[in-house]
Amino acid sequence: MKGDIPMGTIGINFKNIQHQYRTKDVLRGVSFHADPSSITFLAGENGAGKTTLIKVALGLISPKAGNALFDGQSVGEIREKISCVFDEPPVYPNESGLDNLKFLSGIHSLDRKWSQEVCAMLKLDEGLLKQKAKALSLGQRHRLAVAAALLRKPKYLFLDEPSIGLDPPSWQLVQIALKQMTARGCAILITGQNYDAIENLADNIAILQSGKIIFSGPIVKLVQAFPVYVRIVTDDHREIAVQFPEAEPDSSGIYRIVCESGEQARAVIDQVRRSTLNFQELSTEKASMGKMVTDIYKDGFQSEKRGLTYESVQN
Ligand code: ADP
Repeated sequence: MKGDIPMGTIGINFKNIQHQYRTKDVLRGVSFHADPSSITFLAGENGAGKTTLIKVALGLISPKAGNALFDGQSVGEIREKISCVFDEPPVYPNESGLDNLKFLSGIHSLDRKWSQEVCAMLKLDEGLLKQKAKALSLGQRHRLAVAAALLRKPKYLFLDEPSIGLDPPSWQLVQIALKQMTARGCAILITGQNYDAIENLADNIAILQSGKIIFSGPIVKLVQAFPVYVRIVTDDHREIAVQFPEAEPDSSGIYRIVCESGEQARAVIDQVRRSTLNFQELSTEKASMGKMVTDIYKDGFQSEKRGLTYESVQN
């Protein structure tokens, strides 16, 4: 037990959520959890049901079955501790940045110290806050929306496709702010398809496919389950074919040997070094998170093959 909250229910706990639009089953029993002090990436192809799931969690739609609990409590009980930022955050175009912060956060008398801290984190300076929102760039408007969400000092934060259309410097600032929030204990759930942008940010991943979670757990665990490649750049095509027939060239002529583990990759690297093969570059390589997730979409999860266990909370 942690305080009076039963173990396994801390953070955001999605339990067997089912939802239908007319006759279309979109969520078919979604169960997983988003831990406090961490960022969970909800991955899923377009139309997988990510936004629907967030709407269920926020109490905007009633599911056919299941629910989302926040440290064991329903959304109605802890609504003021939740913040949410949607991909194209609405702003009041004719109001100043500062007034937008007040309207969007729902806080009319801002905590001065915290609002200064949040605005500094997101580089929203006085000049910018005085401007009408319609004069701001998309990146500035998005940072404004994130700031408004943070001003509520949320314990639970949802961001739907936060990196879409954001300029890299704005996304960088948003990422730093999100990390700061996890340091304060916040449970953050981010959706998206921009795996490259989220790979180094999130701690955990939940993959939604065909209305179900097919994997949830630490990203490092997912990474360990995928092969490591030994990458060899060489012009010695004849020799590599003789000595390392398992090496496959890609379309630009770079060879790769698939290894089951980092240990095996190191052994192969030693073997190549000791061989008579002339090479220009020799290194190990891991697939990107995007490649791993798209492989899972394509081939199915194949948990036995990957040696992974399904970690979602089932009840
Ligand atoms: P994602 O966020 O993963 O792209 P959504 O949750 O937006 O997915 O949508 C999941 C599926 O439900 C999609 O096929 C979408 O067209 C459908 N859908 C979403 N909202 C509605 C709605 N209000 N009425 C009917 N179908 C909807």
